[in-house]
Amino acid sequence: MIHLLDRPFETLPTWLAERGVPAYRAGQVTTWLFKRRADGFDEMTDLPQTLRAELAEAFAIWTTTVAAHQRADDGTEKMLVELADGQRVECVLLRDDRHHRTVCLSTQVGCAMGCAFCASGMDGLVRNLTSGEILEQLLRLQQLLGPDERLSHIVVMGMGEPLANLDGLLPALAVAASPEGLGISARRITLSTVGLPGGIERLAREGVPYHLAVSLHAADDRLRTELIPSNRGTGVRALVAATDAYFEATGRRVTFEYVLLAGVNDRVEDADALVGLLRGRPALVNLIPFNPVDELPYRTPGSADVARFADRLARSGLTVKTRYRKGDRIDAACGQLRRRRQST
Ligand code: SF4
Repeated sequence: MIHLLDRPFETLPTWLAERGVPAYRAGQVTTWLFKRRADGFDEMTDLPQTLRAELAEAFAIWTTTVAAHQRADDGTEKMLVELADGQRVECVLLRDDRHHRTVCLSTQVGCAMGCAFCASGMDGLVRNLTSGEILEQLLRLQQLLGPDERLSHIVVMGMGEPLANLDGLLPALAVAASPEGLGISARRITLSTVGLPGGIERLAREGVPYHLAVSLHAADDRLRTELIPSNRGTGVRALVAATDAYFEATGRRVTFEYVLLAGVNDRVEDADALVGLLRGRPALVNLIPFNPVDELPYRTPGSADVARFADRLARSGLTVKTRYRKGDRIDAACGQLRRRRQST
């Protein structure tokens, strides 16, 4: 069977044309899938019954099942999605007061980057997700929305390093951004990356105006390599140079994310090193107080320390925001739900 969500705007029209079915039928199917949130071909009632049956025989819409689903009081919902080979990834729907409906997607099973403070990297990389598997997360979360709710933002910040799987990710995001797909503006799609310069250069070449959020977490190579081992091969200067090139090519301001770990990277000298690295750049620094994970030795800094760090950056001319992660009560830190389920 063909996975329909793997490049649906290419496979479906070809399949229909080979059978002499008018091209507009492809549009009907994708409208049902992406806009009317259909779960199966049998719901696509404006298609002839014979065509629905043929489509159901040739195509699988879903290759995944939902292994767990949690909902917090603030409306955040988290899904553990089981793939056809039994592997599991997680994805999250976040609701906020401004009627933003944001989904957070995974791009890989596990992750090869091994960041020191992240549960997803503990078991290494298992495999890349296909484009269809990434799109399935999006559609499953969309199905949780009420009739008056609409997906508004995508953050690619779940399990995996997005720039290590651009072949899977970019076709899925192209569907999400397309008016015939989910119609989510590319400007509302954020890729959160440890910063692989080769991947950043590819994004710049392809010219897609997604928002790039680079996890920096330290401004000097010794500490950054300790926190993000993949920094060893590149170094922080090369990374920042790649983001400069991305800004030049796309005009999009890059965000630098900085998870604050008490006593590790939240000292005065760390703030000053960050200022030295980024001053003069059209960048935004997002400070994220660490979200505790049972197995990891790091602690969350006190709110006075967070405020002091933010103030030091702001006084030096950097644009700074402090962001507390939502979803703590349902294990929404990257990788935690998957680990917890594996260990029960
Ligand atoms: S923080 Fe992201 S890149 Fe680092 S190990 Fe976790 S999933 Fe991978």
